[in-house]
Amino acid sequence: MRILVTGGAGFIGSHYVRTLLAGGYGPGTEDARVTVVDRLTYAGNRDNLPAADGRIDFVHGDICDRELIEQLLPGHDVIVHFAAESHVDRSVDGGAEFFRTNALGTQTLLEAAVHAGVERVVHISTDEVYGTIDEGSWTEDFPLLPNSPYAASKASSDLIARAYWRTHGLDVSVTRCSNNYGPRQHPEKLIPRFVTNLLEGEPVPVYGSGTNRREWLHVDDHCRAVHLVLMRGRAGEIYNVGGGNELTNLELTRQILQLCGADTSMVRHVADRPGHDLRYSLSDRKIREELGYAPRIPFADGLADTVAWYRDTPAWWKALKHHEPAPGARPA
Ligand code: NAD
Repeated sequence: MRILVTGGAGFIGSHYVRTLLAGGYGPGTEDARVTVVDRLTYAGNRDNLPAADGRIDFVHGDICDRELIEQLLPGHDVIVHFAAESHVDRSVDGGAEFFRTNALGTQTLLEAAVHAGVERVVHISTDEVYGTIDEGSWTEDFPLLPNSPYAASKASSDLIARAYWRTHGLDVSVTRCSNNYGPRQHPEKLIPRFVTNLLEGEPVPVYGSGTNRREWLHVDDHCRAVHLVLMRGRAGEIYNVGGGNELTNLELTRQILQLCGADTSMVRHVADRPGHDLRYSLSDRKIREELGYAPRIPFADGLADTVAWYRDTPAWWKALKHHEPAPGARPA
């Protein structure tokens, strides 16, 4: 099987590629060959991937580049589409790049996939497309009510995937996952930002009162779900990937403080993000019942391992953090 992975030098895509090539998705993947196409934005890092060998090729390129994508696709059986602009705060400061990559890039990729006769595509989306929910959990048929430019650009890409399925019969499924955490996440995002701040003796900035609630899932569980959907998901279907741990930002902050040996004197409450969603919650019943998926990594273990990774790997994040800080140094 030849797999094209977009955005494979980023946090989640690189975890997927490394696990796949290490045999982590079991029998049937031994002969898998991967092409990663990645624009290497500030969020992409070639070193997140194994060196090129007979099983992995790396193409430095943009999914909006129609000519490149049309040249690249023939010979690939399937596409796993992770590439995106992914940081909500950056989308608040300027949304154009989000709509270019997330909407136009997805359309370019899917149209080329139709022409190249690609057999199957998984489009990676997010729970943020649903907006915010005070109580209960979203099922896949809830309306799309995105509140940030990032979420609106991802909702656009989900609708593009649906249109290429309905109009052209493209065999595409969409996954919508909750917040991910784990090693190699850019230090602009909440968990790595807080951990790396504390490792450097700096305070952590909590938005508003810290009562916003998020569900956290380890990147390894997310990627396993993506692979299950690739192998066994149905065309035109959406799969929520949840089942993580729901916590307020303040509860999460306390756990991070404890793991880093710090206390609440390191917390600074900062002005809230405009349009900040109060709560996300996914029903993951469909993927559990249809594909037998269940997350495996308990949050306390995953978070402790993640903190240990950042503690043990300062060279990876220091260069990113001190070279290009997030806009306004605000966490996601
Ligand atoms: P990331 O920002 O770490 O990585 C994105 C990758 O895409 C980078 O390597 C970047 O260089 C590449 N890229 C950006 N624009 C590109 C373009 N035009 N052409 C080619 N490559 C391009 O993001 P991530 O956290 O790994 O997220 C991956 C996917 O998962 C995204 O689609 C995101 O919306 C989705 N998602 C993320 C989370 C999360 O918590 N991180 C949760 C749910 C869904």
